[in-house]
Amino acid sequence: MTTEQLHEWMKETYQLIQDNKEELSALDQEVGDGDHGTNMNRGFQAIVEELPNWAGESLATTLQKIGMTLISKVGGASGPLLGTGFMRLSTSFKNEVNWGDGLESASEGIAKRGKAEVGEATLLDVWSAVSKSVREHGLDWNRVADVSRDAMERTKELEAKRGRGALLGERSIGHLDPGAVSSDYLFQALARVMKGADDECRT
Ligand code: ADP
Ligand code: MG
Repeated sequence: MTTEQLHEWMKETYQLIQDNKEELSALDQEVGDGDHGTNMNRGFQAIVEELPNWAGESLATTLQKIGMTLISKVGGASGPLLGTGFMRLSTSFKNEVNWGDGLESASEGIAKRGKAEVGEATLLDVWSAVSKSVREHGLDWNRVADVSRDAMERTKELEAKRGRGALLGERSIGHLDPGAVSSDYLFQALARVMKGADDECRT
């Protein structure tokens, strides 16, 4: 991944979040406090506004700045968790860009920070599924997009065990986890940007 692709990834993600922020907040209304769309929109808007100031920075530094912005601007539970994911990617990509290692480290960081496990209907379910897919099948971006969407959709059948959704207990079953939906946007955007880059290489 080049820094240009990273910038594109952030812009594509912001577009998806912006287009769907009401839906994200509505989902959070069902299982939480209804602010997830606003939180994510604020965070990614700040990132996209800062991108021109980060031109010329290395991939690792840009990822670190993205992580710090998510922590400071998104707020809520999701900001520090996503921020941790990006900080871990930053550390991991300092020497070489290895998505298997980077995503695994990010997922571990999120799990540790959230004291969460896979299957508890959180954004970790999406990060972990993507990490596992890249480990097992390499950089197949179509597969990444499918795996991310499946993991996101599966949170509907699961009982939420972390975050505000856990307060509902079994009543959280039947509701998508808002954080899983926004993390799915993140990986749909990544797959789109990276697939576009693969196509360009081939032509
Ligand atoms: P808040 O819950 O503080 O209002 P948000 O609404 O922005 O924060 O984010 C909620 C999302 O954060 C949830 O849908 C879930 O995916 C994720 N989340 C919350 N707590 C945890 C946790 N302990 N571990 C993993 N993910 C969590
Ligand atoms: Mg919320």
